[in-house]
Amino acid sequence: MSEIIQMNENTWRIEDGMVRMFLLTGTKEALLVDSGVSAPNAKEIAENITDLTVKLLNTHADGDHIAGNEAFGEFYMHPKEEGNYRFRGKTGKIVPVQQGDVLDLGERPLEIIDLPGHTPGSIGILDVNNRVLIGGDSIQDGRIYMFGEHRNLQNYIVSLEKLSAYEGRFDTVYASHSSVEVAPDMIPKLIAGAKQILAGEATGEEIDLFGNSVLLYQFEFAGFLCPKK
Ligand SMILES: [Zn+2]
Repeated sequence: MSEIIQMNENTWRIEDGMVRMFLLTGTKEALLVDSGVSAPNAKEIAENITDLTVKLLNTHADGDHIAGNEAFGEFYMHPKEEGNYRFRGKTGKIVPVQQGDVLDLGERPLEIIDLPGHTPGSIGILDVNNRVLIGGDSIQDGRIYMFGEHRNLQNYIVSLEKLSAYEGRFDTVYASHSSVEVAPDMIPKLIAGAKQILAGEATGEEIDLFGNSVLLYQFEFAGFLCPKK
């Protein structure tokens, strides 16, 4: 059962257990950001909120963000995410979006920002007029998955550093997991934490995650789940 919470006059969050989706509306159309982990009916949920045509964009293609993709037939996704998506046996047409593209929902421009690292085709969305950055899994105060195929902590650092070019253009970050909103100063904290891990200056605790033995680097602001060396 998904819980729907209106955040402001043109934004809703749809809580789907451990993950959330966002529904953004403009004057012409609506955009659902991600399609959940247990919500094959994500399209229907969104269409019950708005009368506008609802399109779908995926911040990335990890299994907890794509459950309802098929119902859309086509969806916006970074082309570098296709491997991660198809690998899960998922179907549908990818409409590629990448750095610098602007999707306009009607008086609501959304700028696409490439954020490779968590996955190769992870993207952020700058909701320009609302001064919000939607960061997917890359910016949050929960546990960021950095183990397994396709993850790259070095690229993750570069991506977050690149966000300094957008400084002053957003006041808050909407996250897919844990706290709904985190402050922009979370970004330098995450960069510092990731750098400490890469430099071998942080201590990870070995934990079991779905049968995988991984290292949890828990900082006071967030955690990173990394492969054992
Ligand atoms: Zn996720």
